[in-house]
Amino acid sequence: MAATLAFDTDRVFIGGRWQAPASGGQLPLLNPSDGSVLVPIARGGPADVDAAVHAAHAALAGDWGRMSATERGRVLQRISARVLEQADELARLEALDVGKPLKQGRADAVALARYLEFYGGAADKVHGETLPFANGYTALTLREPHGVTGHIVPWNYPMQIIGRSVGAALAMGNACVLKPAEEACLTALAFAHIAHDSGLPAGALNLVPGLGEEAGAALSSHAGIQHISFTGSVATGALVQAAAARHAVPVTLELGGKSPQIVFADADLDAALPFLVNAGIQNAGQTCSAASRILVQRPVFEEVLRRMAERYRALRVGPALSDLDVGPLISARQREIVQRYLRLAQDSGLRIAAQAEVVADAPDGGFYLPPTLVAEVPPEHALAQEEIFGPVQVVIPFDDEADALRIANGTPYGLVAGVWTRDGGRQLRLARALKCGQVFINNYGAGGGIELPFGGVKLSGHGREKGFEALYGFSTLKTIAIHHG
Ligand code: NAD
Repeated sequence: MAATLAFDTDRVFIGGRWQAPASGGQLPLLNPSDGSVLVPIARGGPADVDAAVHAAHAALAGDWGRMSATERGRVLQRISARVLEQADELARLEALDVGKPLKQGRADAVALARYLEFYGGAADKVHGETLPFANGYTALTLREPHGVTGHIVPWNYPMQIIGRSVGAALAMGNACVLKPAEEACLTALAFAHIAHDSGLPAGALNLVPGLGEEAGAALSSHAGIQHISFTGSVATGALVQAAAARHAVPVTLELGGKSPQIVFADADLDAALPFLVNAGIQNAGQTCSAASRILVQRPVFEEVLRRMAERYRALRVGPALSDLDVGPLISARQREIVQRYLRLAQDSGLRIAAQAEVVADAPDGGFYLPPTLVAEVPPEHALAQEEIFGPVQVVIPFDDEADALRIANGTPYGLVAGVWTRDGGRQLRLARALKCGQVFINNYGAGGGIELPFGGVKLSGHGREKGFEALYGFSTLKTIAIHHG
């Protein structure tokens, strides 16, 4: 289904102007729900990235750089209000583009507005300190923007990731160059329109859609960038960090995960069940913080498995605009990757505990894959070690607390973990011992957690976004020592 949109989609946005990319090239954007071409997008490249970086520097030397922190905050608040006004349309675009059910698209639009509200409110509340120093001196620190920040984002949650990274960077007074993913960039384009219409000065936000190895590589290796925020795969993150290192540019890496939820026998299972399943199938499992491993203590293993399986069988999978429980995967390629893991599960003789069904009238060309629950997976098996990035959860039994901790920490990743238990001592012991960036006790995901710092350890990356902490990441500290005698 081709989309009718209120704006041209095959443009880059540089210095406040929409224009054709320097190459004149286009890329097709596919609708994952039926495989058709939605619209063409711009194939931005190195010349566009270079122009965007220059426009960003010009903005820092001009209106944007001169704006007070309070006024910057007001601009972000205005953008937030307009995003909320247009939440239904943004949800529709995200559903068409990413394949996620409308309700998830709407939640993402509300989250984008909330990030802008949060960072707009925080813009004039970040400050330096005065420091005790030698007699005859006054010493202080200033929080300053890095300058031009590059933002490379993936296709799975474009609105949320733009909100948390571009929102925080703008609040601190940086000028941004945003490279959305080639698989999904409609809401990035819509966001740039909304920001411009809300009075964001020209050049404060520049947008260059294009291929990762062209526009993305040009951005991460550009000498005129002062900070890069990258969200995506481990392999690409390593390339981005290596490219940025040539100019000693700091990089925040938000990478993948193999996050566990750990269910002890004393847990409130009624409370846990919805979180166990939702955190695996939300966005068809294409979520960095998906709970792709469910660790269950043996006395309740069969009960948890049976109740999860019941929920799986009730899931309805179909086109994004039908707003069911689960949509298609982003692409045929992504589906093939996930199918490979399912074939491996079969070849390894693993127990398929349940599989959902795709609705009968789902278009043939869509990239559908029924959510699948795999039971009693050995912790060292590839299905329990590697990020699948699809609607597949593995359920692993454990004996005691030490066993649970060993399995939970036993992957190369460390993004998020969930713990379900009524034992207060165990809650705190595990919260401290789990090697990851966020731990949720008797909940998971905490409703998005805009206020909560987020990021990983090990292969899940480094640096923190979300919450107030992000504002430190998107600024640099200057120390001033004044000798006055
Ligand atoms: P990806 O690494 O292939 O792409 C991410 C972005 O990088 C895209 O914009 C892409 O165009 C760009 N890119 C690709 N090659 C590049 C290069 N050579 N130089 C610079 N940029 C390049 O990742 P993906 O498959 O699109 O996204 C899925 C991955 O993202 C998963 O591993 C997932 O866990 C991770 N992710 C992490 C978070 C988080 O917050 N930790 C959030 C969402 C997704």
